[in-house]
Amino acid sequence: MTDIANISTLDRASVLHPFTQLKDFASGKAGDPTIVTGGKGVRIQDATGRELIDGFAGLYCVNIGYGRTEVADAISRQAHQLAYYHTYAAHTTDELAILADRLVRMAPGKASKVFFGMSGSDANETQAKLVWYYNNLRGLPKKKKIISRQRGYHGCSVFSGSLTGMSFYHDHMDLPYGGVLHTGSPHYYWNAETGEDEEAFSRRRAAELNALIEREGPETVGAFIAEPVLGTGGITPPPAGYWREIQAVLRRHDVLLIADEVICGFGRTGAPFGSHLYGMEPDLVTVAKGLTSGYVPLSGAIVSEKVFKVMEDGADRVGSFSHGYTYSGHPIAAAAANAVLDICEKENLTEHARTTGAYLQRQMAAAFSQLDIVGEVRGVGMMSALEFVADRSTKARFDPSLKVAARISQAARDRGLIARAMPHGDILGFAPPLVMTEAEVDDMIAIASAAVRQVMDELARG
Ligand SMILES: *Cc1c(COP(=O)(O)O)cnc(C)c1O
Repeated sequence: MTDIANISTLDRASVLHPFTQLKDFASGKAGDPTIVTGGKGVRIQDATGRELIDGFAGLYCVNIGYGRTEVADAISRQAHQLAYYHTYAAHTTDELAILADRLVRMAPGKASKVFFGMSGSDANETQAKLVWYYNNLRGLPKKKKIISRQRGYHGCSVFSGSLTGMSFYHDHMDLPYGGVLHTGSPHYYWNAETGEDEEAFSRRRAAELNALIEREGPETVGAFIAEPVLGTGGITPPPAGYWREIQAVLRRHDVLLIADEVICGFGRTGAPFGSHLYGMEPDLVTVAKGLTSGYVPLSGAIVSEKVFKVMEDGADRVGSFSHGYTYSGHPIAAAAANAVLDICEKENLTEHARTTGAYLQRQMAAAFSQLDIVGEVRGVGMMSALEFVADRSTKARFDPSLKVAARISQAARDRGLIARAMPHGDILGFAPPLVMTEAEVDDMIAIASAAVRQVMDELARG
């Protein structure tokens, strides 16, 4: 049994927690840490013995659910055989070579090679360096700027955090840092002009991207990075025609497309990758999260034939590829990823996510779209979001000090459900494990519904 008081004291004294109000946590005003002790299927358990439905799969990552012993066994087998070796200078392991082959076969675009890292952030750092390397080798040393979108999320490191398009991640941290440009978000609900349909909105966003590239000079723009579906920026699927229009602009100006599939990859949208669902043909693809279902840290920067060809042709001139991490291609992570992908294949999780996801979308719309404080119910596959507004007809936002989404998230938690208050506006996000059943979807929505109604009543009274 966990000694709750002792662990809380140790944690409060010594752990610097991400995304936590440091003073309120240190003083105890924000309560004790939640000590997570176990998990099975779609539920986690805390040290008090309480069970919670994890409607966010950790951080959109535990696609296969918690407690899968097949993955634990694969990790253990590899640890007993060989816990570590590096991949520099052409060293490898069985599990890694097999995993890379699988990823190249399943990835969107014409994939050629995979560079392995430990996190989505470091994989996007790698992508930036690959863009710069690629254009240096092509004799285009000015073609280096990378465009991302407002409300895009690409990580938290110095460069990936700069790519992230939310000021919340920049403020007081001196970001964004050099060479990053941001263009408009693809959110139709908030950004469309009066009378503009989705196709027209997509064309306008593409025209704005085109204008930005022409203003900067196409000879200075190397790549465009985007999530197929905006994730942390609010779980927002693209409007109709968006990816067709955007890709036409990128091709016109010889700008690489980096698909950040960290959330959308491995079935989350109901397609193998988000790029498949939207007809994207990326030159570089970033994967992490679902790759190991979060069981161990692992990410990949997947390089297309087109980009790799330039790297290969340049090798005689520049020598070896001087980029790598101590843990690149870690054998335990590779073994875990292979075991996770085995489960995804055996249990047909992409197809399961497509059908259960369609059910989730229908039930979310039925439960929430008529409520006075819900401006939009949106999503695709096994990701969904509710956008709360003070007035549906004018789309007036709530006063941020009311903390509407945070209160609803807390009310859900008190009733046994984790649903995430997203950082950009009054948004409640859902991204449950892909193994979730329709009955569990019903349980999740019933709790969320009670939580929304509770806060709606409080707001009506206040
Ligand atoms: C989570 C996420 C990242 C960053 O991954 P970390 O492992 O947290 O560094 C990058 N891109 C997207 C789309 C993500 O959702």
